Amino acid sequence: MSIDCLRLSVTDRCNLRCVYCHPLPDCSFIEPEEILGFEEIVRIVRLFAECGIKKVRLTGGEPLLRRDIIRLVRELAAIAGIEDISVTTNGIFLESLAAGLKTAGLQRVNISVDSTDRKTYERITGHDLLPAVLEGIYKAMAVELTPVKINSVIIKGLNDSEEQIAALADMSVDLPLSVRFIEYCPTNRSTRPATDYVPNAEVRAFIERKYGPLVGATPRGCPEQAHGPASTRGSGPADYFKAPGSAGTIGFISGRSSTFCSSCSRLRLTSGGKLMPCLYSTHAHDLKRLIRNGQSDLQIRGFLRRIITEKANYTKLNSPKEEFSMCKIGG
Ligand code: SAM
Repeated sequence: MSIDCLRLSVTDRCNLRCVYCHPLPDCSFIEPEEILGFEEIVRIVRLFAECGIKKVRLTGGEPLLRRDIIRLVRELAAIAGIEDISVTTNGIFLESLAAGLKTAGLQRVNISVDSTDRKTYERITGHDLLPAVLEGIYKAMAVELTPVKINSVIIKGLNDSEEQIAALADMSVDLPLSVRFIEYCPTNRSTRPATDYVPNAEVRAFIERKYGPLVGATPRGCPEQAHGPASTRGSGPADYFKAPGSAGTIGFISGRSSTFCSSCSRLRLTSGGKLMPCLYSTHAHDLKRLIRNGQSDLQIRGFLRRIITEKANYTKLNSPKEEFSMCKIGG
C-alpha cells in the first residue's frame, strides 16, 4: 500500500461541541504559539510531497476557523506533486468561504451533519446552526467542490431512530451527495460511552427497509475510485452504495465493526505538529520540534521517509491507545 495521503489538522479549535468529539466542559486547547504556523505547514507539505504524498486533507478542530485558510489552500495547491486538496468541515462558514476556497484550488469538501432535524442537531453539537450548514452544503455543490460528502456519526439515543437515519440517507436520494455513516469511535472519558456505538449493519438495515437493497457504487468524480467500478471500496475507508434511483451515494465507514488498516494510505499531523502513523498510535513523532530546531530539508525528508516506511507497523490492533481526542488529532 503506497502512503500518499496526509490528514493535516490546522487547528484544534472548534466552534461546535459535538457530544462524541469535544463536548463541554472539556475546553482544553494547546497554546496558540504551539499551533503550526502558515510557513511551517507549507514547508511540511512541500517536504511530504517530495516524499510521495499526493493528497492532503485539511481538518481540525474546525479548519475554516483559521483566518488564513484560503491563502493556505492556494499555497498548498501550488506545491509540485500535490494532486488533491480537500477539507473536512462542520460547514458553518462554508457558505461564505466556498467560492474563495474553490478558486484557491480546493477540490472537495466533507461536511459533518449528524441530523437533518434542527433540534437533534443542536442536541448533538451544542449549537442551533443546522440552517447555516445546509446553506454551506448548497454553496459547496454550486461552486463544484464535488463530490460533496456528508459525514454522519450515529449515536445511540440521539440520532439512531429509523426516521433520523432515513432522513440522512434521503439527502443522497434527492441530491448528488455522498452521505457517509461513520461508526462512533469511543475516544475518552468526556465523550459518549462505548455502549452508545451503533453498528453500521443496523444503520444499513434501516435504510434498506425504506429503499430496498442498496447496490454497490463509488461516488462520482472522486479520486477514491482506485479499485474500479466493480468495487464498493475506494482507497479511503468507506464502502459505497446507492439507493435505487438516487442522485448520490451512501457510504459506510465501519471502523469499529471492522478494520481497514491494510488499505490505510494516510499519515496524520496534529495542529501541534505531532506526526502519527495511525489514529491509534501511542507514540507521536514531534515534527514541529525538528522544524523549529532548524533541521535542514534533507534531514526532515529523511525523517519523513523513515516514518512512511514504518507506517505498516502501526495498526489499530497493535496501537493500544485508550484515551485520545479526535478534535485534537484531527478526525
Ligand atoms: N470540524 C470538522 C468537522 O466537524 O467535520 C473537522 C474535524 S472533525 C474531528 C472530523 C470528523 O471526525 C467529523 O466527520 C466527525 O464526525 C468525526 N469524528 C469526530 N469524533 C468522532 C468519533 N468519536 N467517532 C467517529 N467519528 C468522529
